[in-house]
Amino acid sequence: LISGLARRVGVRTYLVGGVVRDIILGVPNHDLDLVVEGDAIEFSQNLNRLLNGKVVSYPPFGTSVIFMKEKKRIDFASARKEFYAFPGAAPDVEYSDLKKDLFRRDFTLNAMAISIYPDNWGELYDFFGGYRDLRNKILRILHPLSFVDDPARSIRAVRFEKKYDFHIEPFTMSLLKQTIRKNLLDSIKPDRLKEEIQLILELPNYYRYLERLYQLEMIPSILPGCIWKREYSDRFIGVERRLPEVKTIIGIDKFLYQLTPLFDDFDVKQISLLQKRLALSRHFSHKVVSYHSYKSEFMSAVEEKDIRPSEIYLRCRLMPLEFLYFLLSFYPEKSLANQRINRYLKEWRTIKTILKGSDLQEMGIKAGPHYATMLDELKLAKIDGYAKNRFEEEQLIKQ
Ligand code: ATP
Repeated sequence: LISGLARRVGVRTYLVGGVVRDIILGVPNHDLDLVVEGDAIEFSQNLNRLLNGKVVSYPPFGTSVIFMKEKKRIDFASARKEFYAFPGAAPDVEYSDLKKDLFRRDFTLNAMAISIYPDNWGELYDFFGGYRDLRNKILRILHPLSFVDDPARSIRAVRFEKKYDFHIEPFTMSLLKQTIRKNLLDSIKPDRLKEEIQLILELPNYYRYLERLYQLEMIPSILPGCIWKREYSDRFIGVERRLPEVKTIIGIDKFLYQLTPLFDDFDVKQISLLQKRLALSRHFSHKVVSYHSYKSEFMSAVEEKDIRPSEIYLRCRLMPLEFLYFLLSFYPEKSLANQRINRYLKEWRTIKTILKGSDLQEMGIKAGPHYATMLDELKLAKIDGYAKNRFEEEQLIKQ
């Protein structure tokens, strides 16, 4: 479809970046990145007449995106802003624009293009040795100032290194370490930083990437207050196993849930720094602080043999949901603590009394804020096994 349109409008078009890398590696990639030797915005609008997605254009940059169903997207960039000024350009002049576009990219393996223009469809453009590096499983930057230009590339380096089991080439590694030593990571803007971390959290066994970021001493700048301990691996595995279920739960902050194991040894004094570093909500910080404040009481309660269910309910209620699910995987499946937390999540959390405020009014109790307290106490009684039906609820209220 794209190739047909490119021919009709006479505009050379290339697949670039990650999709080319993944075609060569033979792995699926759902995002298409296109470079158009012409007006990318107009091209995307024409293409969208056939695709029926949603086009969002950024005229100052000459870029455009078509958003389609199932989170699929096609990105367009113009390789040549003054494309109309070179109508009969010679091939090397023509490709110099494509080359410039590719030179701006992060690593050689992401800096290749494949033509999808019909007369040289499938031709690979590899100006920087990306194909050779891919074959040799090497991650290499394109020029020595790459990490200085964009320190976020150092997080991307860890992502690609681990994801594809590549080796960071020694010169690239020495520059990466310099970038870290010189605290250049501190200049990554919070939104960008969060985006890069989120890309890591999408990957299977994402804890391995966090561990590597820690080994490379990148954590103090990107997740201030956090450290890494060997025992975290198993906790992260537990958290990840539960992720498909947890992300469907309303009110769960998936980002926080995925990072919960890091907050066990978190230096809580650094919470405002962390919040600022990743532009997190106050809600996020509040949940982390609550976990720290209630954790030890919570743990002794769920592990205690002789304790009323309502006591456990009250402790669970204070604990943010993200951490409850974390603690669920922290305790072995058959343990008392695990069963109790599970019971809270599956049953007690949504338990309701049969009686409502209107019923209390009908019973002749004067309306007021004490209704909430009475109904809450009724709920606790229900959890403890009393007040099994309406009559018993009424009896308890009357007492
Ligand atoms: P994945 O499929 O794992 O998400 P990707 O390479 O497609 O990997 P994106 O973040 O979608 O990752 O980036 C698409 C392309 O844009 C990259 O392949 C790269 O060529 C370029 N790119 C992205 N971020 C940068 C950056 N910080 N500096 C230079 N080029 C970048």
